[in-house]
Amino acid sequence: MIHFPIVADSETLEKMKDCNQCGKCCIKYGDGALSATAVEIDLWKLFEPHIYQYVKDNEIWFCPETGVQLSRCPFLEIESSQGKEKYTCSIYLSRPEDCRHYPSNIAEMVRDECEMIDVKDLEDFKKAQSKLDDLMEGSRPRRQ
Ligand code: SF4
Ligand code: SF4
Repeated sequence: MIHFPIVADSETLEKMKDCNQCGKCCIKYGDGALSATAVEIDLWKLFEPHIYQYVKDNEIWFCPETGVQLSRCPFLEIESSQGKEKYTCSIYLSRPEDCRHYPSNIAEMVRDECEMIDVKDLEDFKKAQSKLDDLMEGSRPRRQ
């Protein structure tokens, strides 16, 4: 999901476009399509009760008051900057694995209309996947 790059860029490396924080992925998957690992849930329970309160029966995200599944992730926020809206994650460093691992492959990005995809990435999925894996190195294992 919304991915803030943490790896220093090499000027010579051909790179995938960075996430522009369009928010499409969080909006699409934040309504019950996400899961968290048991370890993550245990850690939230111990150290981050403001996140844990949205867990119910080891699933995310549920309203703490009503117990009803939320239609939108409670940690998705909108910032306005220079007349443009950008989405941010208010629990970025503690976000669930599902979010840390997104985007995982090119077909998924095309399907979700992820704005990191460039026209030239559509010409060679294998090369594009390798560029994506480079970009995501700090968040998840390589896919190939
Ligand atoms: S936890 Fe963060 S990254 Fe995951 S859906 Fe919510 S706002 Fe997006
Ligand atoms: S859909 Fe792609 S560009 Fe948009 S916020 Fe998600 S990862 Fe970033």
